[in-house]
Amino acid sequence: MIIQLEPNIKEEELEVLKSQLSSIKYKANKVSTQFGDYIVAVGKKDFDIRTIGKLPGIKDIHRVSDAYKLVSKKWKVGQTQLDLGDEVKIGDGEFALMAGPCSIESEEQIQKTVEHLKANGVKIMRGGVYKPRSSPYSFRGLGIDGLKLWHQIASEAGIKIITEVMMVEQIDSMIDYIDVFQVGARNAQNFNLLDALGKVDKPVLLKRGMSGTLDELLQSAEYIFSNGNEKIMLCERGIRTYENAYRNVFDINAIATLKEKTHLPVIADPSHGIGVRRFVDKIAYAATVAGADGIIMEVHHSPEKAFSDGQQTLNFQEAETVYKKVDKYLELRDSL
Ligand code: PEP
Ligand code: MN
Repeated sequence: MIIQLEPNIKEEELEVLKSQLSSIKYKANKVSTQFGDYIVAVGKKDFDIRTIGKLPGIKDIHRVSDAYKLVSKKWKVGQTQLDLGDEVKIGDGEFALMAGPCSIESEEQIQKTVEHLKANGVKIMRGGVYKPRSSPYSFRGLGIDGLKLWHQIASEAGIKIITEVMMVEQIDSMIDYIDVFQVGARNAQNFNLLDALGKVDKPVLLKRGMSGTLDELLQSAEYIFSNGNEKIMLCERGIRTYENAYRNVFDINAIATLKEKTHLPVIADPSHGIGVRRFVDKIAYAATVAGADGIIMEVHHSPEKAFSDGQQTLNFQEAETVYKKVDKYLELRDSL
C-alpha cells in the first residue's frame, strides 16, 4: 500500500496514521524523495483503505500488491519523465537517443564522438571510465581523470554524460561530472550501491542483471526510489540463456512488459542486447516498436580499434542511419 502524504502533514497526524497502521499489523516505511513524501505500508490484512484515506494529512492512498511498490504503475497516474536540463528529457513521450563508445579511451576519441553526436542532434553521450571486465587483464577504463576530461569537452558542446558507477565510494568524486549514473548489469543487485544512489539527486539508469527477472529489476529500482531518488530509468540489455549464437538474448518481451508494470522510462540497449554489430540496428528498431522510451547504443569512430566491445559497436555512418530511421519506427508504433 502506498500512502501519499500532504507536504504539510503535521507530526501528530503522522503519528495517528502510524498507530492505525500498526493496529492492523502493517509495517510503515516513510519515504521522502525530491518530489514527495510517502508511507509504504506492508502487511497482509484486508481492510477498507478509505478508513486511512480519509485521515487528515493524507493526499491519496493506493493498494499495490506487487513486491515493488513505488515504481509500480498501479499508483501513479501518468509516466515519469526525467529532465536532464537544457531541454533534454526522457520518457512520457520524449524518446531519448544515447550513444558513445563502450569505453572512454582518449581526448581524440571523445572529441570525435562529441562532434558526431552534435552533428546528429544526439544530446546524451555514453561511455565507461570504470569498466567491469570479465578479465582483470582487459582495459578497465581511464577512471576519474578520463571523466574530468570528457566532462570538459562534452559540457562545452552541450552534451550530457551517462557513465557507469561501480562502487559507492566513486559516487562523490563522479557526481559533479556526470548527468546520469549508470548501474551495470553486474551491479543490478548491489544493494549498497542502490541504497547510496537513492540518496543523491541525479538520474540513474539501472540495467537488468544478466540473469535477473523483471521482478528483481523492479525491486532493485525500488531500492533507489525508497531511499529518496525518483529519477530512475530501467534498461533491458539482454539476458544470458542457453543460446550461444550471439552474446546475449535481447528480451523484447521485457520492453512491452515493463511498460505495463512501471511508470519509469524503459530504455533499450541493443548493443549489449545482441552483441553483434550487424544486428544492432534491427534490435534497436524492434525495441522502439515494442515501446522503448529510448535507445542506448555503442558507437566509435573506428570500432575495429575500440578498447572494448568493438564487435558490437557501430561506426558513425551506421549509427547515423539508426538516429534517422528510428523516427519511422516511432510513427509505426503510434499507428499500431
Ligand atoms: C556497458 O554499458 O558498457 C556495460 C558494461 O554494460 P552492461 O552492464 O549491460 O554489461
Ligand atoms: Mn560495452
